[in-house]
Amino acid sequence: MKLLAVMGDPIAHSLSPLMHNFVYRQNAIDAVYTRLRVENGDNLREIFKAHNLSGANITLPHKEAAFAQADEISSRAKKIGAVNTWAKQSDRLIGHNTDADGFAAAIAPLDAFKNALMIGAGGAARAIAIALIEAGVELAVVNRSEARLEFFAQNGAKVFVAKNPPNQRFDLVINATSAGLKDDETPLDKSALEDYLSSAKMAYDAIYGVETPFLRLAKLRGAETKDGEDMLAFQGAIAHSLFFGGDVAAIAAQMKSALRLPKSWR
Ligand code: NDP
Repeated sequence: MKLLAVMGDPIAHSLSPLMHNFVYRQNAIDAVYTRLRVENGDNLREIFKAHNLSGANITLPHKEAAFAQADEISSRAKKIGAVNTWAKQSDRLIGHNTDADGFAAAIAPLDAFKNALMIGAGGAARAIAIALIEAGVELAVVNRSEARLEFFAQNGAKVFVAKNPPNQRFDLVINATSAGLKDDETPLDKSALEDYLSSAKMAYDAIYGVETPFLRLAKLRGAETKDGEDMLAFQGAIAHSLFFGGDVAAIAAQMKSALRLPKSWR
């Protein structure tokens, strides 16, 4: 039996074991997927070897450490500068990032949007930005602080700090911050956000499992809304296909069914 895991800290909340184990059961795959709390990212590779893992996903705060410790990096993960999946090839660890393709699959077709405003400049935002830029969508990124904006400017996006946001309309408005996850905050000043949402075709929130103030506001303003559940399922399904092969869309559908299981299954 193969053993796989998601590694991060905190990790107790991760839905990856639920999604992956459900797929193993549905497809009679002889494997178990667990969660490992890893405090020190320097130890990721040692822990992977010690547990004789066949593959792993890596989440906050260790995606950069996973990048540094892989033997080889996919071109997509290189662009993003972060790795969320280690797949084994012989005895080598190949680092991938499935978040960008997960987002693109969740919101396809991306080229239905001429331009997009993304709020947030963290790891999820980087992956989403690469998917949008590669699809030819003009991208503006706004963040509450300046430090992490450089990556986006280097990749061709226009960048703004939240106190001085862009003055134009956007087809797609994305919340890639954690504002609204555990609080009642919107990711940007509410009146600026209302203006963007009133003229947007779609409001997208990377957060899943709760209706955020951002999505509530978007609904009030008449925009189509979508949360992060499909991105979660697709990034997981793409990782699964790297571990075991299989059809990504079918696996993503199974992972979405797993997310609908009663909470007691988690
Ligand atoms: P990071 O910690 O890397 O980045 C967090 C971002 O949110 C930063 O831009 C930060 O700004 C901003 N931020 C945090 N709190 C606030 C606030 N109160 N107001 C405005 N901005 C704020 O996190 P990730 O990028 O990994 O994750 C972001 C969100 O995306 C999370 O909620 C996560 O659950 C979700 N996610 C969803 C995935 C999916 O598959 N659906 C995959 C990965 C993430 P600053 O730089 O100033 O600190």
